[in-house]
Amino acid sequence: MDVIVADYAGFCFGVTRAVKQAREAPKPVASLGALIHNRQVVEQLAREGVHPVNSLEEVDSGRVLIRSHGVTPEILAAAREKGLEIIDATCPYVARAQRLARKLAGEGYQVIIVGDPGHPEVKGLLGWAGPGAVVVPHKEAAANLPFHPRRAVLAQTTQPEEKLKEVAAALRSNTDTLVVHNTVCQATRQRQEAAVNLARQVDVMVVVGGKESANTRHLAELCRATGTPTYHVERAGELCRQWFINARRVGVTGGASTPAWIIEEVVVMLAEEEKVMFPEDEKEPVKAPEGADFAPAGENNEIE
Ligand code: SF4
Repeated sequence: MDVIVADYAGFCFGVTRAVKQAREAPKPVASLGALIHNRQVVEQLAREGVHPVNSLEEVDSGRVLIRSHGVTPEILAAAREKGLEIIDATCPYVARAQRLARKLAGEGYQVIIVGDPGHPEVKGLLGWAGPGAVVVPHKEAAANLPFHPRRAVLAQTTQPEEKLKEVAAALRSNTDTLVVHNTVCQATRQRQEAAVNLARQVDVMVVVGGKESANTRHLAELCRATGTPTYHVERAGELCRQWFINARRVGVTGGASTPAWIIEEVVVMLAEEEKVMFPEDEKEPVKAPEGADFAPAGENNEIE
């Protein structure tokens, strides 16, 4: 069985930068929300003195770390007012989208953000986009908006570009002047294109990353849309032998918040598949690597 890793997979520039800033910060430091959507990395950082908090109310003094998703200007102002030292790890691409949103709102556009309304990056971006801004998760929501004379569209950095185009097309019927800014970041685009290309060439795709990670879930959805069976796992221990029966080529990719060592762990386990998952003289799967268990087939993993 050949195991092929996508050309672009794992930590992006913004996440690498945020983790580096967290590691280099004097400790302890409070991270406003989990630094990235990867449980293993967050746990590792907590052991180093980077402690996630849910809100500024939990931090009375010391340092606060703004994660790569960014926050609203109100939260930044509140942190300053409290006298906290701010370590700002907002990804420069997210910061660019925030500045753009503020500029467009100032020019009188209603800002439309294509993205997941519950995602922290979108919640932060909304705070920069003026009081009339709206988040639309898909083209149907855009088509249902009432008429507006001037709209500007931008996207959560990890959204598929196709969705931005679809929303823009839907808005042309209920908007006089429409400007569209592509704020989808290159790291996302590269990972998505590489994942789809690979998915078309293999029998099974494994997408590695946090279950909370929106960009990892998007990668899995895109791979599955090619028709190739696709499984989303957080760790190698979730791999299941039934997924790879008759598979000659297996593709592996990882979301922008997945560290290289976790992707490697999956690749090593797949490469050892015949020895580890199909031992010659055993019917039952042998013991998974330390700290990992084999998951039952399918459940919670296959992208339906
Ligand atoms: Fe920055 Fe792009 Fe990574 Fe998001 S996916 S943190 S925008 S580099």
